[in-house]
Amino acid sequence: MSKTPEQPSIKSRTLTLTHDIPISRTKIYWDSLKEGKVYATKCKNCSQTYYPPQPDCPNCLTSNMEWIQISEGTIETFTQAHLKPQGFTHYEQNYIIAIAKTLEGVNVIGWLEETDIKNVKVGMPVEITAKIMPDGFPTIILKLKQTYT
Ligand SMILES: [Zn+2]
Repeated sequence: MSKTPEQPSIKSRTLTLTHDIPISRTKIYWDSLKEGKVYATKCKNCSQTYYPPQPDCPNCLTSNMEWIQISEGTIETFTQAHLKPQGFTHYEQNYIIAIAKTLEGVNVIGWLEETDIKNVKVGMPVEITAKIMPDGFPTIILKLKQTYT
């Protein structure tokens, strides 16, 4: 068995990438995050709900959508970030990310407002809110509605 020779390479500089995200058709969503509210879209034709919100229904191809606020759910899964990805390295504490299934049947990922992972269990009810973080970016916040006993 022959070994593949290592290809010569050099390290590039560290790259930082930012880009403008078009939001003209989801501006309601982004504006509502500043007010602490999270919205999904629901098709008025087939009743399918979408999160992240979709301006058009992929199911029946209509643009006849309405905005619905999503505010409650239960934890489907969660993890604690010990190694932070680029853009989050300025957060000193290890934060908990969770996915909540809403009453409307969509999944929402967000920061769990709880720092001790021992207090978190799948199935716990959460309130779904949003806030502007100290770095200026809007973030979905999941608040436990009960304490683990
Ligand atoms: Zn539809």
